Amino acid sequence: MRCPFCGSEDTQVKDSRPVDDGSAIRRRRQCAICGARFTTFERVQLRDLAVVKKDGRRVPFDRDKLTRSIGIATRKRGIDEEQIERMVNGIVRRLETTGESEVPSTRIGELAMESLAQLDEVAYVRFASVYRDFATARDFEEFIRRLPEDLEGADSPPRAEVAGAN
Ligand SMILES: [Zn+2]
Repeated sequence: MRCPFCGSEDTQVKDSRPVDDGSAIRRRRQCAICGARFTTFERVQLRDLAVVKKDGRRVPFDRDKLTRSIGIATRKRGIDEEQIERMVNGIVRRLETTGESEVPSTRIGELAMESLAQLDEVAYVRFASVYRDFATARDFEEFIRRLPEDLEGADSPPRAEVAGAN
């Protein structure tokens, strides 16, 4: 790593530790020539992360696309952009910490469903209906019937509202 102060290539790592959430490694470095100290961060570059689709094709990870699909699922559910942004950040962080350079699209869908399940049952069901490609009303009913009990927390909208969307 080149010293940003004097341009020397001769720098040494003095300290190396994970950033609090484990998504990066923070290194303190010191230049052997001018003595300057500086910090570098090492993290997975998400623009280099490949998503493997169900048909085997590989496409670059598209954060905006993930944000859009979560935005569609949460429409008119009183969930603001900041909450969606936090959710996407959480998903991205979990993708980063795998350390893999490619990830199946199904994994991203599952992470999004997990996050939505904790936030809003209706948004969760909407996302799942697209993601799981429900073909018939029966698929949808079957999915609703199998919703885990813990989704029916005090903060969740009543079940009738979900059924009403049918
Ligand atoms: Zn230097």
